[in-house]
This record gives sequence, C-alpha cells and structure tokens, in this order.
Amino acid sequence: MLYQRSSALFKAAQEVIPGGVNSPVRAFNAVGGTPIFAKSAKGAYVYDEDGNRFIDYINSWGPMLLGHAFPPVVDAVVEKTKQGTSFGMPTAIETEIAELAVSMVPNIDKIRFVNSGTEACMSAIRLARGYTKRDKIIKFSGCYHGHSDSFLIAAGSGAVTFGTPNSPGVTEGTAKDTLLARYNDLDNVKTLVEGNKDEIAAIIIEPVAGNMGCIPPVDGFLEGLRALCDAHNILLIFDEVMTGFRLAKGGVQELMQVDADIVCFGKVVGGGLPVGAFAARNEIMNHLAPLGPVYQAGTLSGNPLAMAAGLAMLKSIHADADLMTRLEAKTKYLHEGMAQALDKNNITYTINRIGSMISVHFAETAVTDFDTAAEGNNETFKAFFHGMLDRGIYIAPSAFETWFITDALSYEDLNETIAAVEDIAKTL
Ligand code: PMP
Repeated sequence: MLYQRSSALFKAAQEVIPGGVNSPVRAFNAVGGTPIFAKSAKGAYVYDEDGNRFIDYINSWGPMLLGHAFPPVVDAVVEKTKQGTSFGMPTAIETEIAELAVSMVPNIDKIRFVNSGTEACMSAIRLARGYTKRDKIIKFSGCYHGHSDSFLIAAGSGAVTFGTPNSPGVTEGTAKDTLLARYNDLDNVKTLVEGNKDEIAAIIIEPVAGNMGCIPPVDGFLEGLRALCDAHNILLIFDEVMTGFRLAKGGVQELMQVDADIVCFGKVVGGGLPVGAFAARNEIMNHLAPLGPVYQAGTLSGNPLAMAAGLAMLKSIHADADLMTRLEAKTKYLHEGMAQALDKNNITYTINRIGSMISVHFAETAVTDFDTAAEGNNETFKAFFHGMLDRGIYIAPSAFETWFITDALSYEDLNETIAAVEDIAKTL
C-alpha cells in the first residue's frame, strides 16, 4: 500500500488545522504513521486518496450499521436537500422520526434531537440536575460521554489514547461534581452513593462500554445500578450513543431488560449526519424548555437533511427482522476466526464481543474495566494495527476503541480479515 497522497494532504492539513484533524483520534498518534485520508466509501469499503481499498471496521465510529453510502439514506438526503437545507422552523419530518424512535425504544415518551453525542450527554446531565435539584454525577473510569467539561474526568476513547483523560481547561469546580466509579464494580458505586447522600443527580454509564475497547456489563451490574438509583432517587442515564439502534432495535434497555431514566443517542440515529438525541418519560422531558425551566437549544437541531438521513436509517432497521441476528452471526464468525489465528501463533489476547461490537486487547487477563483494558500491550497493538492497515483492513487506531461490524460485510470480507490476522500473528 502506498500512502503518498495521504501523506501530502496530512502535511498541508497540519498547517491550518491543529494536528491536521478535526477530532484527535484520527491523527494516528497512538499507533504512529500517516492518517489515511478518505475519498469515498461504499458498503463495507472505504477508499483513500491514494486509491487503496480498505475493509472498514470503524464505519465512521459507528453510524454505518448498514454500510457506507446506504442507498435509502443517500436518496433521502439528496431529495431533502433540493427543498432547502435548514429553516430554523419546525418541520414534519422531526415528528416522524421522533414517533418512530419513541416506538422502537422502551420506556421513553419524548425525544429531543441535537447535533452530536456530546450535546446529547451534556444536555441529559443538565436535565438530570434540573429535575433532581442536585449537582453531583457519577461516571465510570474509561467511559466516554463526549467532550463537555463534566465528562473529561478519567474519560475513555481519544482522551485516554492521548494521555489526557482529565483535560486542562476543565475547572476544579466542575471536576469536583463528577465522581468516579469503577466499571462493573457495584460495591464501588454503592460506597460513592453512601458517601454523598442526597447529592447525586445521576449515574451516567455506557451500558455496554465501547470507549475502552468493548466491555459488556457483568451479570447483575446494570440491574444493581437500577436498584441503587431507585433507592436513592438518582436518575440512571444510559449513554447509548454507540449501542442505541445497534445492539437491539431498542438498544441495551431492550437487550438487557433494564430501564434507564434518560437515554442518550448519536451515531446510528443520524445515519452518518451530525445527529444526537436524548429521551425520557414525560415526567422528566417536560422539564425542558419551552415546557419547563431547563434550557437547551440549537440553531441546526432537527436539521432536515440530518432528520432525513436518520429517518431512512431507522426505517430500514425497523423493517429488517433479521438484522440483529445477521450482525451477531458475522461478529461471532470474525471472533472465532481471529481467535483461531491468534491461538495458532501463541499470541496472548482477549477478545470481547457483544452483538456487532468487538475488540481485541493484547492482554493476559479478562478485560472488564479501565484498569484491565489499560494492561494491554500497546506495542503489539501498534504492530497489529499497521499489519492490518497494510493488508487493506482498517481498524480503529487505538486499543481503547471498539470495532463496529456493519451488515454490508460479506463472509468473503470476513475471511479476508481473518487471513490477514493469521498472517500478522506470525510476526507479532
Ligand atoms: N457517548 C459515547 C458512548 C460515545 O461513544 C461518543 C463518541 N464516540 C460520544 C458520547 C460523543 O459523541 P460525539 O462524538 O458525536 O459528540
């Protein structure tokens, strides 16, 4: 593979954009080398500026559940564009997508659309604070809820990849209201709740974590959080930005039969356009302006192009009875193939998988929280990443990320991927 044009484009970008990128993980800092500049994508493949083709396991970090340039989404956006790109007035399509989302997701009456996952989580926390009249929140080390101030405390994803899980610029005042717990450790959460009686507005969690690699909750963990929240009048917020409309049509609430009080969405819900959303029962959502006192707004929120993409996406997911089964089968096939290839070559690894999320850690122990995720061998990961890239397989450029399996992947693509893993494993 040649990356000459990407290299030249990266050089030019660095002159005018900090680090050459508009979101840090794209810069490949954790793995070294030149970031690939995308030119186009279709189905399971992304094509770069040098004309290389990659089987894509990032899929725009999640949105492309049904593949790149998915025709119903593209057609919907093209048609909508001809009618004007933004009005700042209510539109019929906002109600249409809201009705569909509310019908698919358990336990919500109303949903508000915003422009990113960050905005969704930030607004959910404000709503929880306004509703409970309390200030503190509990988050989990290694979970990422976007880049708003309250969440850049032991954050996962790019924040940890870049060694700044606690970002400068977040004031001490803000940081002191964010309490940190260990993922999958209910006793730890109980201790925090006991020590901060009547002060905690919300516990926010990725109900399946995807920002320290993929880490599913252990049995009883989410149920335990639900009971703890009920006992102490704390709101439970599920950040389903990654998992929503992906792990089940109704997200983790449906998959694991645990109700959240507020749910955050992003990624899939926008079909690849900038969309986020948060949702809850009427009792909570009616606290939002203009009905209630908690303020939240957006010039481009509910943008018609974004809603058209999201609606086409949700309709396709809703209408496809076998989608989740197919996705899970493909992910399992990939898991088993990679495990065999790594075993054959005596590589130490842990693969975590649930539904269409999977990640490979070069770690000896089970990866169940941030500390165990951090024990993975980063040098091995780097070699693995570049080996995959040079063989035309594009995985996330950091071990603290999940791979996103798309329905567009064929079994031939999966076999090609497994063959690449086998080839690389010999050299690790
Ligand atoms: N929450 C989760 C669980 C995420 O994975 C992300 C982004 N990866 C966000 C929130 C933030 O979303 P965005 O990047 O759209 O602001």
